[in-house]
Amino acid sequence: MPPESTSFLFRNIALAGPSGELLENRDILIEKDRIVSIGLSGERTNAAAPRAANPAGGTEKPPADLAGQVKLPAQVYDGGGKLALPGFYNLHCHVPMTLLRGYGEGLPLKTWLFERVFPFEALLTEEDCYWGSLLGIAEMLAGGTVSFSDMYLLTPGIARAVRESGIKANLSHGYSTAPGSKGFADSRAYEGTRFLIEAAREDKSGRLVADAAVHAEYTFGDERFGREIAEFCREEDLRLQIHLSETREEHEACKAKRGRTPTAFFDSCGLFQTPTIAAHGVWLEEGDLDIFAERGISLAHCPVSNLKLASGIAPIQKIVDRGIRVCLGTDGAASNNNLNLLKEANLASLLQKGLTGDPLVLGPARLLELACRNGAFAQGRADCGSLEAGMKADIIVFDLEAAHLRPVYDPLVSVFHAADRGDIVLTMVDGRVLYKNGEFTSIDIAQVLAETDRIRGEKLYRLEGKR
Ligand SMILES: [Zn+2]
Repeated sequence: MPPESTSFLFRNIALAGPSGELLENRDILIEKDRIVSIGLSGERTNAAAPRAANPAGGTEKPPADLAGQVKLPAQVYDGGGKLALPGFYNLHCHVPMTLLRGYGEGLPLKTWLFERVFPFEALLTEEDCYWGSLLGIAEMLAGGTVSFSDMYLLTPGIARAVRESGIKANLSHGYSTAPGSKGFADSRAYEGTRFLIEAAREDKSGRLVADAAVHAEYTFGDERFGREIAEFCREEDLRLQIHLSETREEHEACKAKRGRTPTAFFDSCGLFQTPTIAAHGVWLEEGDLDIFAERGISLAHCPVSNLKLASGIAPIQKIVDRGIRVCLGTDGAASNNNLNLLKEANLASLLQKGLTGDPLVLGPARLLELACRNGAFAQGRADCGSLEAGMKADIIVFDLEAAHLRPVYDPLVSVFHAADRGDIVLTMVDGRVLYKNGEFTSIDIAQVLAETDRIRGEKLYRLEGKR
């Protein structure tokens, strides 16, 4: 981990304000992990009081004033020709699945799952998940993601990678009902979630958060398990992650078996009394959207994975119009095959324009909201997700100088419709620069690449007798 920076100044940079408005020639001053002021470049910048609640209860000290020359920040970054945005939130991921990126392609979904993915996952160790997670985290940091929500197993390896890298994450161990199970407390997911609760408590930074997770309706037992998990979430004050109505087959089979949709089934168990982030929602019906709106369920839209697995296109504009909070997610790299939020945002917009016949839907300001503020809220991080005094200093910087971006009329249009993630030149989390100009400050990327290649070779040998 790079040492905690005491102060950092982005000088003379353009940025997107809380509603997506463009603010040019600004200085952003950061003290420790928070933005303390944003003002016109060169002017006195400390007028804005910190907006977010201070956990200690008091008001935070105003920043050292640059114009007053109290002191110069420890680091100064020249923002000429650059655009600062809040970092991206990836609200649905299975980060160690980077290890399976591209493995078993070209097979029907069930064959791929049962003959490739599950046998590979059965061989994974905590150590493998640690290296796979670091690989995914490096990819996310380089692509401007500052926080992700994850559902997987072998969570100690993932938590270790999160802590060491300095990224934020809401981690969970996905629950499935085993045949003959006595109850939730008997499950591996219960143990894994307990571990995460403890790990988050020990970490103290607030970056690592423990969530509960239900894998999906088709791997779930009867209502009793739902009531137990709801009770557990209440006792431990947890949020919930879940896959919901991803495929038509899953959605219709649930209606045939349980007489209601997956959303209605889990709601009848009381599960959605817990703040919930539901992934996919491709096949949600009107009645499901009523439940989403009533319970405040957030939806993680994963357009690349949904298209690649031929699951369909979620009616996102309709869901947004219902006032339901929509976020973006990549899903795992085995079904994507990247962890690239910028690509998800671009595709989400194009799909909804095509679906609705309206070129004005999911415009750049709305995409910024989906990718940043909505994700932060859905993760329970009220002091993250926008560039304002008092908020956590989670900032990414785009270089707008490349030929494929010029000339620039509206920088947000350039970001969401012309830029690649390679145009991101800096990623800061909680005031620490974790990625800059192709270099990682908290991850030894050469070692991560060597270890993940080694794991690939070992697993292939054990599965197929070849390297
Ligand atoms: Zn998933």
